[in-house]
Amino acid sequence: MADNILTRLRPELASLNAYKVAPSDGYIKLDAMENPYQWSEQLNQQWLKYLSHAAINRYPDPDPESLKLSLQQQFGPQDEDIQFLLGNGSDELIQLLVLAIARPGASVLTVSPSFSMYQMISEMLGVSCQSVALDNQYQIDLEAMLTAIETHDPSLIFLAYPNNPTGNLWSRADIETIIQASQGIVVIDEAYGPFASDSFVDDLSHHAHVLLLRTASKLGLAGLRFGWLAGHVSLISELNKLRLPYNINLLTQLTMQFALDHYSVLAEQAATLCQDRARLTDALAAMSEVEVYPSEANFLLFKVNNMNVDDVFNKLLAANILIKNVSKQAGLAGCLRVTVGSKDENQAFVSALAEALT
Ligand SMILES: *Cc1c(COP(=O)(O)O)cnc(C)c1O
Repeated sequence: MADNILTRLRPELASLNAYKVAPSDGYIKLDAMENPYQWSEQLNQQWLKYLSHAAINRYPDPDPESLKLSLQQQFGPQDEDIQFLLGNGSDELIQLLVLAIARPGASVLTVSPSFSMYQMISEMLGVSCQSVALDNQYQIDLEAMLTAIETHDPSLIFLAYPNNPTGNLWSRADIETIIQASQGIVVIDEAYGPFASDSFVDDLSHHAHVLLLRTASKLGLAGLRFGWLAGHVSLISELNKLRLPYNINLLTQLTMQFALDHYSVLAEQAATLCQDRARLTDALAAMSEVEVYPSEANFLLFKVNNMNVDDVFNKLLAANILIKNVSKQAGLAGCLRVTVGSKDENQAFVSALAEALT
């Protein structure tokens, strides 16, 4: 057996870390933007019945047109030049996008702080990823962004709208300026679209280099692993060549179709979460040691003043509440991120935080 087998791996692997997920068993889990609500017993029974007809001995539909049509009917845009590409979670589509542009000299551009997978996937694939720091209100520094576009001519720009982990929408005019300035692909990642007051869905028809990325995960189906990319047919059909055959399994296809057929359930849950987000924002704003940032997503970013943020995080953990400690990320000193949960979970979090701050 070769004992130096690791030397056969690409050298960049040595400096990467596997994606870590905090153990959550037994905790009130408010760390990963999951929807706290399960389906009713009745809907569950209907779903299981729907799945019971699945021909699991067969390969799934390689390119499920009717599911794509249902997605387009639900989320738009109603434009026949816009096509959909389906992924095993939107992470798979981020990987596919970086794969598509990965050639010597190509680069990715994003902002910081933002979703870590843009950077991680670029690193994995040996593509350089630049990130431009957001300003102190977590808005895009447009001038720095335009300079970066001019300097690096990125093949791919990722903009999460709303942004994770800051929760805010950026100035629409800034994004439009970036779209105009870019010679490469601009991906607007609307993972939190169901909770936001604005979307770029209607802009797709005007720009063949803009793609919209969405996911079912934050909507209430994180266990499913399903995301989609929408964009002009000319670009989507090229990207589709990189997709592995049968990347969306049969159970996922059927479940997503079922969820779209009962979309009002998910839409009501999202509306409830938005109302509870407002309540949770008020509760945090009332705490003098806490600065809470405006959010258009199903989570809140807040900053702890005059106290050690790790201590606060650990006290919450000791009270059985798991949130996300983002304070080590650039631009987020003192910050924690909490997912909006059920009313009881939010209440437990608020009480435990008040206790931790005393
Ligand atoms: C959670 C998240 C995703 C990943 O979603 P999956 O579909 O679960 O892979 C993508 N983008 C952003 C900004 C996210 O926060």
